[in-house]
Amino acid sequence: MKTVRTRIAPSPTGDPHVGTAYIALFNMCFARQHGGEFILRIEDTDQLRSTRESEQQIFDALRWLGIEWSEGPDVGGPHGPYRQSERGEIYKKYTQELVDKGHAFHCFCTSERLDKLRAEQTEAKQTPRYDGLCRSLAADEVKQRLAAGEPNVVRMNVPTEGVCVVPDMLRGDVEIPWDRMDMQVLMKTDGLPTYFLANVVDDHLMGITHVLRGEEWLPSAPKLILLYEYFGWEQPELCYMPLLRNPDKSKLSKRKNPTSITFYERMGYLPQAMLNYLGRMGWSMPDEREKFTLDEMIEHFDLKRVSLGGPIFDLEKLSWLNGQWMRELSVDDFIAGAQKWAFNSDYVKQIAPHVQGRVETFSQIAPLAGFFFAGGVSPDAALFEHKKLSTDQVRQVMQLILWKLEALRHWQKDNITACIQAVVEHLELKLRDAMPLMFAAITGQASSVSVLDAMEIIGPDLTRFRLRQAIELIGGVSKKENKEWEKLFNAIK
Ligand code: GLU
Repeated sequence: MKTVRTRIAPSPTGDPHVGTAYIALFNMCFARQHGGEFILRIEDTDQLRSTRESEQQIFDALRWLGIEWSEGPDVGGPHGPYRQSERGEIYKKYTQELVDKGHAFHCFCTSERLDKLRAEQTEAKQTPRYDGLCRSLAADEVKQRLAAGEPNVVRMNVPTEGVCVVPDMLRGDVEIPWDRMDMQVLMKTDGLPTYFLANVVDDHLMGITHVLRGEEWLPSAPKLILLYEYFGWEQPELCYMPLLRNPDKSKLSKRKNPTSITFYERMGYLPQAMLNYLGRMGWSMPDEREKFTLDEMIEHFDLKRVSLGGPIFDLEKLSWLNGQWMRELSVDDFIAGAQKWAFNSDYVKQIAPHVQGRVETFSQIAPLAGFFFAGGVSPDAALFEHKKLSTDQVRQVMQLILWKLEALRHWQKDNITACIQAVVEHLELKLRDAMPLMFAAITGQASSVSVLDAMEIIGPDLTRFRLRQAIELIGGVSKKENKEWEKLFNAIK
C-alpha cells in the first residue's frame, strides 16, 4: 500500500485563518493515524495579494497550535520547491502538455469581449460561461498570433453535457452537471498558473494520496478531476470538510467572529485548548468527551465520525473549554503559559518606556498599564461623548478607522497614525477629534500612556477587537449605515 500523504495548501494573503488550522489539523490527524506524512505547500500564485509576512504568520500560527509538517518551504523535503511561485517552469511544461494533447487551448479574447459575453448571458438568464470561440482557431493562426506576442490565456476544455461524479469520502458520490463548469483558465496572461492547474500538478508531483479540503471547493471539483484524467494521473481520495460557521449559521467571517489565529493567541487562549476545540468542529471522540489531547485525537481519529451539519465556531464554548484546560494545568505550567503569553521581558520592555515617566511608584504601574495585559477592555460609554461630534458621527469615524486598520499590513505607529489621519481628513476633522475616541476604546480608561504607542504594542488583533467592541458599546452599525459608510470608505485615499 502507498504511504498516506496529506497536505495543507494555504494562500498567504492575509491573517492566518482558523479555517486553515482546522483543515490542517484534520489532514495531520489523518496522515499520522495511517503512519503517513503531512506536508505544507504555499499557494502564492496570486502575486498581488500574497506576501512573505503572511506566509511567516501562517507558519508561526500553526506551530503555536502544535501543528507540524514534515515537508514545506521552511523545512525543505524531496518534492520541493514547496512554494508555487518558485515552480513556474513546472506549470509551463504541464500546460504545454495539455495544449499539445488537445485538452487545453490558447484564448486571445479581450476582456471587453468577455465582459460583453457575460452581460449578454446574464441578461438571457444563462450561467456566464466562455463560449469556446478560440477553441476553433486553426493551428496556424494560433501559432502566428503567439509568435506576434498577442496576449492570451490557456483554457481547459470541459464537456458541455452530462454529469461529473465526485467521489467524496464523506458524502459518497456527488453528481455535478458539466454545464455548470466554465472552460477554466489554467494559465493567465502573465504566464502564471491558476489555482486549478497548480493545485493538481503539485498534488500529483508531491505524491498526495488524500486531499481533505473545505467544502467551499466542492462545486469546482469536476475541473480538478478532469485535469487528472487529461494528464492520465491517479486521482487522490477526496474529502470535503464541513465549513466552520458563526453562531447564526452563516459562514465564519471576521465581521462576526475573530478569524485570525493570532487573535486567539493574543487573547491568551491555550494552544492545546484551541486545537482541542478545532478538533471538535464536526468531529467527536467515540466516547463523546469534549476535552482531549492531540495524541488522543490521532489515536481515535476516524473520518466516519465527521458529521456534515455545519460546525459552529463559538467563542463562548471555546472559552469554556479553555477554562477546563487552564484549571488542570499545574501551577508551574500555568505560570510558564502566562509568561509566554505576555508576562515576559520582551513584552514588558516595550511597555516600560511609556510607563516610567508617568508613575511615582511601581504600585502605579498596574492601574496605569493593566490594559496591556487584557483582551477586551470595558470603557465607560460616557467616554465616547464628544464635544464636537454627534454619536452618529462618533460611530462613523470609529468604523472608518477600524476598516482602515483592518486593511493595514505593516503594523507600525507611523502607519497607524496615517490611517487615522486619512479618515479624519476625509471627514474634514482633525486628528485631535478622533484621538480621545481611540484612547477610550483601546485603553478603556480616561488617562494612560500614549494611545498610538499602545496600539502598536498590543498589535492589530487586539486593537481591532477593542475598536469593534467600542463601536458595539455605543450602538453598533446598522446594515444601511454599513452600506453608506463603505462607499465613503472606498473614497478615502
Ligand atoms: N490554496 C487553497 C486555499 O487557500 C487550497 C485549497 C485546497 O486545499 O485545494 O484554500
